[in-house]
Amino acid sequence: MNKAYLLIGGNMGDRLANLQNAQTSIQSQIGSIILSSSIYETAAWGLEDQPSFLNQAFIVETTFTAHEVLKKLLAIEQSMGRIRQQPLGPRTIDLDIIFFNDQIIHTEDLTIPHPQMQKRNFVLTPLNEIAPEFIHPELKQTINQLLIDCSDPLLCIKK
Ligand code: ADP
Ligand code: MG
Repeated sequence: MNKAYLLIGGNMGDRLANLQNAQTSIQSQIGSIILSSSIYETAAWGLEDQPSFLNQAFIVETTFTAHEVLKKLLAIEQSMGRIRQQPLGPRTIDLDIIFFNDQIIHTEDLTIPHPQMQKRNFVLTPLNEIAPEFIHPELKQTINQLLIDCSDPLLCIKK
């Protein structure tokens, strides 16, 4: 079994319902969620003139490869009505793969570990709740250490 470390989030519409719908689709299409974090709220990163985000992290056990999981996540995003607009702009749902086992993948459509994750509280804080000792395969540091060292000024608050 593979372990996919996912971060889901969104800042448009019924944010809580969108997280719950995404979770249901992940369970039925990708695999069992073996650990899930609390839901966290964070001000929008990058473009600040938009609603705050809700985020949640999961560890999913799956028989699919990382690329197959990505395809399924993009399909779930589309089915939930995600329209891609400006890069850092508002979105109903964003489903990202942060880690996949301890694989390092750099292809045109997929980068794992997720780039810049170590710079963002909204990724590190939920992950730290469910996988504090997981070691980033490129940076060779635990999630907990990356969180301690992270200088992101945006607060990520447990709901
Ligand atoms: P972001 O999540 O960075 O705000 P998008 O959700 O719009 O941006 O993603 C755009 C593209 O990022 C996707 O079509 C996908 O091919 C690519 N991508 C690269 N690495 C990953 C990853 N680890 N998880 C999810 N998408 C990824
Ligand atoms: Mg994304």
